[in-house]
Amino acid sequence: MAIKGIKILEVETGSPAERLGLEPGDRILTINGHVITDELALKFYLSEDSIDIIVHRPGSGGRRFKIDLLENPDLGIQVEEFQTRRCNNACLFCFVDQLPPGVRPSLKVKDDDYRLSFLHGNYITLTNLNQVDLSRIIEQRLSPLYISVHATDSDLRTRILGRGKADDLAVKMRKLIRGGICLHAQIVLMPGINDGKHLQKTVFDLYDLYPGVQSTAIVPVGISDYGPCKTRFMPVTPEYSRALIHQILPWQAQFRTQIAQTFACLADEFYLQGGLEIPDRDYYDDFVQIEDGIGMVRYFLDEFKTELRRRRTRCSNQHGTLATGKLFYPVLKHCMEQYNLKFGTRLQVRKIDNRFMGSAITVAGLLGGKDIVDALAGTDIGDFLIIPGEALSGGDGVFVDDWSPQDISRRLGKPVYSSGRTMRDFFDVLSKLKRLSS
Ligand code: SF4
Repeated sequence: MAIKGIKILEVETGSPAERLGLEPGDRILTINGHVITDELALKFYLSEDSIDIIVHRPGSGGRRFKIDLLENPDLGIQVEEFQTRRCNNACLFCFVDQLPPGVRPSLKVKDDDYRLSFLHGNYITLTNLNQVDLSRIIEQRLSPLYISVHATDSDLRTRILGRGKADDLAVKMRKLIRGGICLHAQIVLMPGINDGKHLQKTVFDLYDLYPGVQSTAIVPVGISDYGPCKTRFMPVTPEYSRALIHQILPWQAQFRTQIAQTFACLADEFYLQGGLEIPDRDYYDDFVQIEDGIGMVRYFLDEFKTELRRRRTRCSNQHGTLATGKLFYPVLKHCMEQYNLKFGTRLQVRKIDNRFMGSAITVAGLLGGKDIVDALAGTDIGDFLIIPGEALSGGDGVFVDDWSPQDISRRLGKPVYSSGRTMRDFFDVLSKLKRLSS
């Protein structure tokens, strides 16, 4: 029979684990009688005062260790990563089904794992959770979680998720909320499918669960040139975006009056597409769903203004290019014009069309490395190129098409820098390049 628990990969020198005699290869089976299935459970039960650990050591069987970690619940070990849970849905809009050939392999994983939701803010549907999972989430206080709702009408949600029969979303959400778990909801909006009165029902059903449901992000469906979605959905147009913004305004006004939160926020894309001004930062409820594209532009604009005011040195020699996607291009261009004016630099912004995934994909985060090369090769990009940091994967630093910044640099014959993830990173890159140019 396979031994469960989690495997220790490394034991730090001088750590409590080393003093106990734990070794790489040992498997931690239980702590204080609780079965340990992953690192989250390990961390949770190590926070108890007095620890009784049962470990399996290959070749010698079970061993028991006792330790008092007092204020520092850290054994000083590295353990194996958990196996990501896969989804059991077949969503109408699934982006994984729309990926082109040659995409970086990590994007092909159809994960639906509450642990990734807790750790990284991934959206989960709850369809693969049983009562044991729900109890564990509550017991180990895995909060907040990010829930893909799309529609609260049961038949519509079933259709959107491509399921044979309805799931019990409302029951699960209520159980989590009663257990003290805070939820953030997401609606992927598909014109003609879950908008109009369906959207109204979904938003107000979620609002009924406030403060258990803390916020709702409404984001447009992404449509690539691959898979069935291109013919399945109507695209989000500028007119559609403007009508949606107007539809939702009175709901947001009502929420702000009643709970002092916008509660249901629209993705930046709707404002940019609709040609309407990006709302002020108050609209975004502390940017709780910024990773989902809710308020990224406002955050960028405000941070840019602050940093621009703070920085001093002029450098008229600096001449380079910043690449970005179609959606963010006007925003970045406007910002860099101010930058050039203040510092006497010659930084140009170039709009890159997404040929790898399709022209309807306009966000910078999904640009392919080859798209950038195709757009810029043979043109004057100056002394360097800055690429959008969000287009690079966190783990291996490659683009969606598996190209690396080094690949681009080789093809263009110029140094390539990532813009980084924060505004401070971005200005630091620009400052470093200024020093190199002077
Ligand atoms: S839950 Fe839906 S959208 Fe997410 S991976 Fe599964 S099928 Fe795709």
